[in-house]
Amino acid sequence: MKGDTIAAIATAMTNSGIGIVRISGRDSFEIIDRIYQSKNGKKKISQMPSHTIHYGYICDHDKIIDEVMVLVMKAPNSYTTEDTVEIDCHGGILVMKRILETVIKYGARPAEPGEFTKRAFLNGRIDLSQAESVMDLIQAKNDIALESSIYQLQGSLKKKVKRIRSELIHEIAFIESALDDPEHISLEDYGIKLNQIIIDLTSQIVELLRFSENGELLKQGINTVIIGKPNAGKSSLLNLLAGIERAIVTEVEGTTRDVLQEQINLNGIILNLIDTAGIRETDDIVEKIGVDKAKAYLLDADLIIYVVDSSTKLDDNDNEILQLLRNRRVIILLNKCDLRQLTSEKEVRSALYDIDESKLNNEHENVEQENLNVIKYFPIISFSTKEEIGVKKLQSVIQELFFAGEIESNEEIFLINVRQKAALQSALNSLSLVKKSIEDQMPEDFYSIDLMSAYESLGNITGETIGDDLVNEIFSKFCMGK
Ligand code: GDP
Repeated sequence: MKGDTIAAIATAMTNSGIGIVRISGRDSFEIIDRIYQSKNGKKKISQMPSHTIHYGYICDHDKIIDEVMVLVMKAPNSYTTEDTVEIDCHGGILVMKRILETVIKYGARPAEPGEFTKRAFLNGRIDLSQAESVMDLIQAKNDIALESSIYQLQGSLKKKVKRIRSELIHEIAFIESALDDPEHISLEDYGIKLNQIIIDLTSQIVELLRFSENGELLKQGINTVIIGKPNAGKSSLLNLLAGIERAIVTEVEGTTRDVLQEQINLNGIILNLIDTAGIRETDDIVEKIGVDKAKAYLLDADLIIYVVDSSTKLDDNDNEILQLLRNRRVIILLNKCDLRQLTSEKEVRSALYDIDESKLNNEHENVEQENLNVIKYFPIISFSTKEEIGVKKLQSVIQELFFAGEIESNEEIFLINVRQKAALQSALNSLSLVKKSIEDQMPEDFYSIDLMSAYESLGNITGETIGDDLVNEIFSKFCMGK
């Protein structure tokens, strides 16, 4: 079906100022010639120069459907590289649908989601990493994600990956020809040279991966769980950060039963905030469900915000929570700092210390030393949801904790997606196998097998070694008309 003509409404399906119906494929001009009429009735779109725009009407026989502007892009100078026509019409749902129906009636077929971009990819205008960045661009939720997707659309990731791949294929070819022609091409000391190349390529891939964790966090948001004993101020915190009254704030302990989720944008950093029922042992079945869920959410969380009610003494509930914080990224808020303080930072630290002390006696020392450091140095912020004290500090601590200033200082941002990350990791594994073979002085054809796997894994990023199924799956996630 390559080149058959597809059409879709490319703008949102809501009533708005203008709408765009897009047509791409070999019959695009034939179709538009049959349904477009210029004011004097003489102009034919197919005879107009590429990249020009024309005022007129879309008609089905003599019936005028809408007054439009028609944009002409001739192959190969279009998004898909095919003959493409865009009809700018009035942005009413009904009128856009009518125009699309007419285009289909005269020979196009409805496009699948992402099919225009898929054609751009299949026709070689962009690689897969660029195609995916188109989606990221549309879905970007903050400036950093937006900037990164624009870089990728321009081919930043593609260029890096291609360079690494071409080095790999160069070495594979060298090994193969040396094995074929041992008389003329010597592999003596080749292991030493290859080892150096592997070290270099590994560090290039590691560099790309370095931002990947943060990349996902930036794109998808940091999964954040708010915990604390009942009445500590968790719902108040959620409300403060979300700026809306969603959770019911109440003075009766344990009334926030459900798990509520809210996505907030804290100065460009997205937090997927989960407010949980107060974690504590309870006999109440309804509340118990909330508490169990809360514990389950804790396991998945990227960040835990532990709200301490500093107007009360630390109690068993707090101690139980402290146990759950070990080895996690935690920020502790000493909430209600506007009231008389019965719990100070020092007391929290010493409670944290006690936990580690007790654990220190039980388990292996070196692992423990690490935990001790992690748990002892949790950021603790004096906070009041009521007086809105500490919000700025919380913001800067999160920024520091997750991104440590890296975002601004890094010119080219690579927010790679999960699929790309997996491909990079698999390439790294293969390279480490090559390194191992060199160390073990294995025969050279062992090198080339793993070099080839690395080459193929990286090809998944650019789409050069990827199967049809996966291509279809990737593009099916795109929006209509893109
Ligand atoms: P949760 O059970 O942890 O979700 O606690 P809530 O958010 O429902 O708050 C419990 C009570 O503490 C409510 O009456 C809040 O108004 C109050 N509260 C929360 N934060 C503060 C604060 O910073 N200062 C003061 N004075 N009261 C607060």
